[in-house]
Amino acid sequence: MNGQREEGQPERVAIIGLGTSGEAAARLALAKGAEVHVTDKNNNDATSARGAVLRGLGAEVRLGEHRVEEIARADTVVVSPGIAPGVPILAALRARGVDWVSEPEFAGRFLGAPLTIVTGTNGKTTTAALAAHLLAAAGVNAALGGNVGGGLGPPASTLALMEPAPDRIVLELSSFQLADTRALTPDTGVMTNLGVDHMDRYATVADYHRDKRRLFEAGSPRTTWVLNGDDRAVLAMAEGFPGRPVRFSVEEAARPGAWLAGDAFLVELGEEGAAAPVRVAERRDLALLGRHNAANALAALLAAIAAPEAARALVAEEGAAAALRSFPPLPHRLEPVGAVRGVRWVNDSKATNLGAALSAVESLEGPLVLLLGGSDKGEDFRGLLAARGRRVRAAVAYGEAGGRVVRELASAPFPVLRVRGSFAEAVAAGQRAARPGDTLLLAPACSSFDMFANYMERGDAFRRMAQRGGRTG
Ligand code: ADP
Repeated sequence: MNGQREEGQPERVAIIGLGTSGEAAARLALAKGAEVHVTDKNNNDATSARGAVLRGLGAEVRLGEHRVEEIARADTVVVSPGIAPGVPILAALRARGVDWVSEPEFAGRFLGAPLTIVTGTNGKTTTAALAAHLLAAAGVNAALGGNVGGGLGPPASTLALMEPAPDRIVLELSSFQLADTRALTPDTGVMTNLGVDHMDRYATVADYHRDKRRLFEAGSPRTTWVLNGDDRAVLAMAEGFPGRPVRFSVEEAARPGAWLAGDAFLVELGEEGAAAPVRVAERRDLALLGRHNAANALAALLAAIAAPEAARALVAEEGAAAALRSFPPLPHRLEPVGAVRGVRWVNDSKATNLGAALSAVESLEGPLVLLLGGSDKGEDFRGLLAARGRRVRAAVAYGEAGGRVVRELASAPFPVLRVRGSFAEAVAAGQRAARPGDTLLLAPACSSFDMFANYMERGDAFRRMAQRGGRTG
């Protein structure tokens, strides 16, 4: 590692970024007896409250600036996923030859259970949460966590402090976390799909995919790879890595693997117990809308089945049916939030990229009015023209990206209305453009930071308006 630690001295750990995962890493390091230095450039209410708590636990906390010499003394430097690779402090560390790791990689040193790691462009949270749910239904004491920004569970560092330790850990990892991950070896690795995202942080799609590839680079010959058989980029990326690949498909039979055949979820593993296809559940057992969610469910099934202790219960006729039935739709992901004058409102605020927005458009029946906009992440909105455009009655373009949405959708077969005012005004314009029987869909294909703290606040604002009959409050 970096510093020159003397025999018997406590490890020195520096943590850059005092968000949820930075705080969790600091708590873990302190619990393991390390000398901890935490630093964040921000000195706002949230960081100073966290800083005060950590000081109380014995950490050294530097807020408002980073001091490179204080960080460089550490044996291990942990970088939070929110810290972009080009920022000056990382350049300064790089210039000194100081290496760093992601928070999940740091936590991984202390995680004693087999890891199921889920990544991909879209569907990570749904797949990871459903995999954990299926494992639990099969009697496995599984814990879920990882990607705090988008995910539902705690950071990996918090899981590392769980007592008693879980028998299996399902970790959702973003590309930002994978970027600084080298040695977090999955027992099971899931790649849901590979599309385009985060073009505000990466120079090219290839750079983004390079970070995703780290999942495979960290694998072992004993790793089971759960791969999207309908996504050529996923199959190509996995090629040549050691381990056992299984595939899922909503298009065709995937052997060994799992697929959707008509109304049935089938599993065939080519081995004892599943040498022939086993009908483990029906499509209607899954409450989540859309083909992409059927794909997520197949991925989650294979991920759960990869745990030998769960396979016996799940790989049986209807073996997964009850567990799928008890999995509720997740908030902000194609979440029906009400109806206003005959218009159904659906909250897909988590659709922060084009691929997710497209799958929402494809998933819902009937005419749609689409709310598009927010912080501009640099995606090409012309990609939306690939959607079955005739089902889109109108789109409303709002927020920072609104102007670009209007320009890039100039040739769309539906009107694109520009709203320069607030989010509520954009939603109200969408309601006016809709007719009874339509769906008003918030699948904005952008992040929310121009108007909200995060996608959850945006989705909550939309849900509140639905509950007030379309009024802003
Ligand atoms: P992630 O954690 O990767 O962001 P989520 O499960 O939270 O994924 O879903 C994020 C968004 O992507 C939601 O809007 C959801 O409707 C959409 N989505 C989910 N799964 C898929 C998929 N397999 N393909 C495309 N879009 C998806």
